[in-house]
Amino acid sequence: MPTLFISDLHLSEKTPVLARHFIKLLSDQAEQCESVYILGDLFEVWLGDDAMTASHHAILTAIQQLTDHGSSVYFMHGNRDFLIGDRFAALTGCQLLTETSVIDLYGVTTLLMHGDQLCTDDLDYQAFRQQVRHPSWQAQFLKKSLDERIHLAQAARAESHKETRQKPNDIMDANQDAIINAFKAHHVNQLIHGHTHRPNVHYYDINGKKNRRIVLGDWRNQASTLLVEPHHFTLNDERVQINAASLME
Ligand code: MN
Repeated sequence: MPTLFISDLHLSEKTPVLARHFIKLLSDQAEQCESVYILGDLFEVWLGDDAMTASHHAILTAIQQLTDHGSSVYFMHGNRDFLIGDRFAALTGCQLLTETSVIDLYGVTTLLMHGDQLCTDDLDYQAFRQQVRHPSWQAQFLKKSLDERIHLAQAARAESHKETRQKPNDIMDANQDAIINAFKAHHVNQLIHGHTHRPNVHYYDINGKKNRRIVLGDWRNQASTLLVEPHHFTLNDERVQINAASLME
């Protein structure tokens, strides 16, 4: 049975069509998969597991139905929904992954990441990331009232939009050295991540070995997916359609 990867859906109250795409994907395609990996930024914003709305619950219920059906669903935090916690996991039956997870994907040792860690040229963002990923910062933030959290998140988003507009495009992409280091540090031949919204497949020769990096697409207009089978994968996106054989061939 295949394995499905998705990321960067950025679901919010403003995009009910995408939420419907997601729920349909789970009930149609995902039920045929042994595992589903959500590699971060499922939601545009997540202010805490105690701040769920009715539209969140519809999405959580769809994930829970899939795990009840027998599929394994794994969730990794993105830079927007890094506050998803144990309650979310308990309600959906998802397993939360750490920010770098190595899996055996049909015989190929594969590193999974959201991908924001690789954007090392964006120093402002990396400093922000280090702050908000710290458990004590998160505990403090979650103690604040919901109104305060909404206010702080809006201010952070406005600041990030302003900065992003001023940054050269390349700074927002994954850094080549960071990519090579990730392959070496985790002893993997394959890396799958999202975040950059630049769906593509890249190859790297490292120490005489062929390595592959698959970048997932975001859900700007439609479901963007990566479906991996034992000897084949398909990256399905409105911008690119890539079919390739397994690295083991
Ligand atoms: Mn992201």
